[in-house]
Parts: sequence; C-alpha cells; structure tokens
Amino acid sequence: MQSSPKKPQNNSFLVGIVLLLCICFLIITDEFLPAKKAEPSPQDTITAEAVATFSPAPSATPVPTPVPTPTPKPLVQEAPPEDPYPELYGDNVTGEFAPPEEKTVYLTFDDGPSDVTESLLDALKQEEVRATFFVMGDVSKKKEILNRMLYDGHTIGVHTYTHDYRYVYWNQEAYLADFCRQYYSIWDATGYRPRIFRFPGGSVNSYNAHLYRDLISEMSRRGFVYYDWNVTSEDAAGVEHPEEQLQELLTQSEKKPRIIALLHDTKKNPYIAETVTQYIRTMKEAGYQFKALDSSVEPVRFPYFK
Ligand SMILES: [Zn+2]
Repeated sequence: MQSSPKKPQNNSFLVGIVLLLCICFLIITDEFLPAKKAEPSPQDTITAEAVATFSPAPSATPVPTPVPTPTPKPLVQEAPPEDPYPELYGDNVTGEFAPPEEKTVYLTFDDGPSDVTESLLDALKQEEVRATFFVMGDVSKKKEILNRMLYDGHTIGVHTYTHDYRYVYWNQEAYLADFCRQYYSIWDATGYRPRIFRFPGGSVNSYNAHLYRDLISEMSRRGFVYYDWNVTSEDAAGVEHPEEQLQELLTQSEKKPRIIALLHDTKKNPYIAETVTQYIRTMKEAGYQFKALDSSVEPVRFPYFK
C-alpha cells in the first residue's frame, strides 16, 4: 500500500517533464522560425512585384521595342514645309503645250553619253538633224561632249543618275534625290538647266507601279515635262543587229504622224550612227521632219496614265 502513492508521484513527474519539453520546443520553434509566420515586409513586397514584373526576362524572349518598323513610307506624302530642292524647277508648270506638228520625228537617245556619242553627233550634224539626249551618270568629266550637244542644237534632258530601278523607285524621296543629282551634274557641266526628263524604264513600269502617279504629280508640279516613246529600235530588248534595229524603227513608224523614237546611246550600239543615218534618210523621203524636244512639245505618253 505504501508503494501505490509513489506511482502517481512518478507519473506526475514524467508528465511534468514532457510538458516542460513541449513548452521548450514551442518556444524554440517560435524563436527560430518567425519568418514563416511573419507578414511580408514592404521590402518583401517590392521584391515580389519585381519578380512578377521582370521574371519573364530570363526566358530570353525579346521584348518588342517601340522602334518603328522598316516599312516604306506612305506613298502619298504631304508636301514638306520647306522644299528640299528649291532650285529644282522646270519651266512648264501649266502642262500646256504647243499645237502638235504632224509628220515630225523626235529622236531621243537614252543612257549616254558613251563611247559612241561622238559618232552619233557627227551623223546628226551630217544629216542636219537635231535630237534629244536623256543623259545619265556623272557628267563632270564629259563636259566637252555635253557642251557639243548643246552647241549643235540638241536638247539635254535628265534620265537618271544611278539608273538603279530599285533605288529610284523606292519612294518619292529617293527619286527626287537621284533626279536632283543628275540635274546638278548637267547644270554644273554646261550651265544649262534641263527642263525635260525621261523615267528609267518609261513612266510606268514594273518597278514604279506603286509610285508613278505620285512622281508624275510631283515632277509636273515642279514644271518638268516627261516623255515616253511610241517607236523604238528595240535595242534594249535584245535586237542588236543594225539592220534589224532599222527595220524595227521603220516598221513601228508606219502611219504614225508624230514619232518619239527611243534608241540607246551606249557602246552596245557601235553602229548606232549608221542606223540613225539610214532611218533619217528614209523618213525624210517619206516627208517627215526631225526636231529636238523642248518642254513646249506635246509628249507621247503611255496610255494607261490618266
Ligand atoms: Zn535608261
């Protein structure tokens, strides 16, 4: 009977030890793991937001930037507040022309001057014919031949400086820059300011279909007159033999009262002087006169432009 009261004492002691250990455990746990239970501090909040905002960056996916995409500028542009080419003006802003003369041929030569220009000028002089040269490229070292053209009574027009279709027909700014470069090149070499021009490839072609209306509008506003053609030797279309070129010229000239004939003043046409001489003589026999273009001459233009 004496031992029975000892047992409860031992049990109570053990229970007390266990409770004490539990309390200590809770205190220790609470002391060393407060962060798990704490509310996020402001610093923690910012960090979380930052992570939420920028955490996609490490995925290496480029974030789109507001830089403009390299698409072409609008084709129809507003007139600049200041004209970037204040001297680039012709003399026919009205678009009116003299009454057309029938039985007239206007010979035009593109892409020169070249190695054959001199022989061509000799032939024209021999036949007492005045023609038109739509020249291209840097003519600063060809002053003599250009001045001879003018001295002999021919007309010089702008063709292009680079003759790079993709560049000049990229947009209106590119065309004007190229045109102006050639305009000044001729002006500097001769003191003569061209007033007429020819589009590379003609006024409408596969490179400028998106742009030609704007270009024609702008160049007409500036008083320049452009000329297409209704007869060609097809020398740019693979017809190389002089006899065949002559035949093309004569066949296409049949029954046309007014003719603007296109040939190319290039070294690919070493016999151009002979071809032109034969053409002139044949057409004169048929009653045609030959004249040089100027900005008062009514143009021949491709029919699909209104
Ligand atoms: Zn050309």
